[in-house]
Amino acid sequence: MKIIMLGAPGAGKGTQAKMIADKYGIPHISTGDIFRTNIKEGTKLGKEAKEYMDQGRLVPDELTVKILLDRVEKEDCKNGYVLDGFPRTIPQAEVLTDALGKVGDKIDYAINVEVPDKNIISRMSGRRACLGCGSTYHLEYNPTKKEGICDSCGSETVLRDDDKAETVKKRLLVYHEQTHPLIEYYKKQSVLYEVDGTMDMQDVFQAIANILGA
Ligand code: AMP
Repeated sequence: MKIIMLGAPGAGKGTQAKMIADKYGIPHISTGDIFRTNIKEGTKLGKEAKEYMDQGRLVPDELTVKILLDRVEKEDCKNGYVLDGFPRTIPQAEVLTDALGKVGDKIDYAINVEVPDKNIISRMSGRRACLGCGSTYHLEYNPTKKEGICDSCGSETVLRDDDKAETVKKRLLVYHEQTHPLIEYYKKQSVLYEVDGTMDMQDVFQAIANILGA
């Protein structure tokens, strides 16, 4: 089962992707997480990516596509995966379609988690990310058990630079220009499914589980 999560930044697709990965036993692949790991480790890729990420811009396709294709070729992806944050542009989607096509494969589900822009900005200011393992929380909708401390690894949780209000506005602009066209792209491939992302996290997950089947 190969799944793509679509939706604006802050629509909750990362949280849903993790829940899907747990339920269906497939890897959750987030290009944003891969970049953040590289930033933490101080790699060349991390340094390059950070410049773009801190401005709310997309990391160039040349840097992004290769790391994603390398990742989905790994052994743990043979039964499928859930992609979170990739593709984000039509050229990225085309590269993925071509790479899968070459081995007679394709994406099975592109799930669009729909949330209006006005909800996104207030949501993002409450978002917190763990400095240690990258788990994400929300002060109101998905709080940590102990304030400011990650439930999974005990590290500090913070507001990411790219979740700050000004950056979020820029990210939404970039989303509408470059990523939103993917909805039409996957509709044409007859694999697009829409869910209302304004619902409670568990209800969104139930809607997705209904699409994916037991
Ligand atoms: P995310 O955690 O998915 O919200 O990604 C955080 C940031 O990483 C984005 O705002 C982009 O700067 C960068 N990024 C993540 N995935 C991609 C991608 N597929 N293409 C380009 N940039 C990306």
